[in-house]
Amino acid sequence: MRPIRVRIDSAALRHNLDAARRRAPRSSICAVVKANAYGHGLTRAVRALAAAEGLALIELEAALELRRSGERRPILLLQGFFSPEELEPIATHALTTVVHHPEQLAMLERARPAKRIAVVAKLNTGMNRLGFPAEDLHGVLERLRNCPSASVVALMTHFADADGKRGVRWQLERFEAASAGVDLPKSLANSAALLRYPEAHKDWVRPGIMLYGCSPFPDESAAALGLRPAMTLASELIAVRSLNAGDGVGYGGTFAASGPMRIGVVACGYADGYPRHAPTGTPIIVCGRRTRTLGRVAMDMLFADLTGILEAAVGSPVTLWGEGLSADEVAASAGTVSYELLCAISQRVPVSEAP
Ligand SMILES: *Cc1c(COP(=O)(O)O)cnc(C)c1O
Repeated sequence: MRPIRVRIDSAALRHNLDAARRRAPRSSICAVVKANAYGHGLTRAVRALAAAEGLALIELEAALELRRSGERRPILLLQGFFSPEELEPIATHALTTVVHHPEQLAMLERARPAKRIAVVAKLNTGMNRLGFPAEDLHGVLERLRNCPSASVVALMTHFADADGKRGVRWQLERFEAASAGVDLPKSLANSAALLRYPEAHKDWVRPGIMLYGCSPFPDESAAALGLRPAMTLASELIAVRSLNAGDGVGYGGTFAASGPMRIGVVACGYADGYPRHAPTGTPIIVCGRRTRTLGRVAMDMLFADLTGILEAAVGSPVTLWGEGLSADEVAASAGTVSYELLCAISQRVPVSEAP
C-alpha cells in the first residue's frame, strides 16, 4: 500500500477544546465541525469533542447523519436551509438553523413543519456576507415571533477581521447597538475572537480552527497559543537519488542543483491534498529532521532536500505537516492558510487514529 496516511490525534482535539474552555470560561462552546470537521473526519472529531455543548456545520446531510448516530446536542446549520423541502427534516431531527435572509424568512412563514424549528437570527455587522442589516433586526424578530413554525433561540454575527488589524470592536459596537434590549443568547466569536477578544465571548463561542490545533493568526503560532496539531499528514520516501550540479528536479525543472546533492521522492502530491503551489523551500520533515521541498509538487509525488540527512533511505518517514511542523507554516509558504490544507485532504488518503 502507498505509505501516505493521515493520523488524527483525539487527545489533541480534547486538549484544544480545553484550551478554548480556559479562554472563554463563561461561554458555552459550539464546536465548528463543518467540512468534515476541517478534514479530520466528522464522527471521530465529534466523539473527541464530546465536552462541547453544541456543534455547528454547514451540511444538512452531515447533521442528519449525526442525529442518526445518536447525537443529542444542539446542532446549528451555519448557512441555514436552501429550499423549503429541507425544513421538514430540520424540524423532525431538531436541528437549529441560522436565518440570515428575507428569502429564508419567507420560506419559514410558508412552511408547516411537524415541530417548531429553533432559529438563530444572523446579523450582518460588516462582514457583508450573510445576515440581516442591523436596522432590520427588530422587524425580523417580530416576524419570527409571529411565525408558527419558528422559535428564535439566539442572535449571532460573524467577524471579518478578528485575526487581523481591524479587530472586532467596530462590529461589536454595531452588534450591541442593534441588539440592545433584545433578551436572547448571543454568539459572535470564532477562534480568533475567542483567543484575542474576551469582550466578544458572550453566551456561545464558535471555535473551529483552534480545535484542530492551528492558529487563526498570521503573527502568532499555534504552539504559542498552547494548541496541539490534531492532524498529521505523513508518508515515506519511495526513491532517493543523487544529483550533480545543473541537474533539474521534476516538471519544468524549476529547481536545479548547484552542486552534488541527495534528494528524496515523497509519496504525496496534490491529488492527496498537498498544495501544488507550495514552492521550493516549503518546510518538510524527513527522518525527524526539518528540511525543505524542491521543485514542483506533482499529482502523486514531491521532492525533499536530503542534504545533511545521511540516514535517509527508501522507506524513511516523512511528515508533511502536523506533529513537529505546523500546517500553518506549510500554508504560509504556499500562500494560503491552514484551513485550506486541512480541508483539502483527499478521499484516497487513509485515515487512522493516532496511538
Ligand atoms: C467557520 C465558522 C466559524 C469558525 O471559524 P474559525 O476561524 O475556524 O474558528 C465560526 N462561525 C462561522 C459562522 C463560521 O462559518
